[in-house]
Amino acid sequence: MWWGYLPTVSESGSTECLFCKIVSGDIPATVVHRTERVVAFRDIDPKAPTHILVIPTAHLADAAEVATHDPALLGELVAVAADLAAADGISGSGYRLVLNTGRDGGQTVFHAHVHLLGGRPMGWPPG
Ligand code: 5GP
Ligand code: ZN
Repeated sequence: MWWGYLPTVSESGSTECLFCKIVSGDIPATVVHRTERVVAFRDIDPKAPTHILVIPTAHLADAAEVATHDPALLGELVAVAADLAAADGISGSGYRLVLNTGRDGGQTVFHAHVHLLGGRPMGWPPG
């Protein structure tokens, strides 16, 4: 059988995907936001005082795939990140949203996620 037609999009989640397992609760995480479409949780290896990952509950590989599949969902991820920045008290000082995409972009988990980083000044250019 040829599996080429199988979509990467799965409303029920990918059984092999780490972040799908966090969405389903199979892997524990410090969840700070949960709706039907968006989940946010603290990064296990924080790179800043605030380091939260904001993800779609649907399994989509990266931000570009979110934009193609459901453009409004990309806006929701950013809006949730902004709300969580306010909740962590870093709206005024500022923060960085990062969407690593692909190997050279530094993506290691291929379920789309927005990094919300803040609580310290960020360097530029990034490494
Ligand atoms: P990427 O490198 O794909 O942009 O980001 C993946 C992020 O997921 C990394 O910052 C990494 O620390 C985080 N991460 C990896 N495994 C886990 C985990 O099991 N739980 C949580 N909360 N974060 C994780
Ligand atoms: Zn997934």
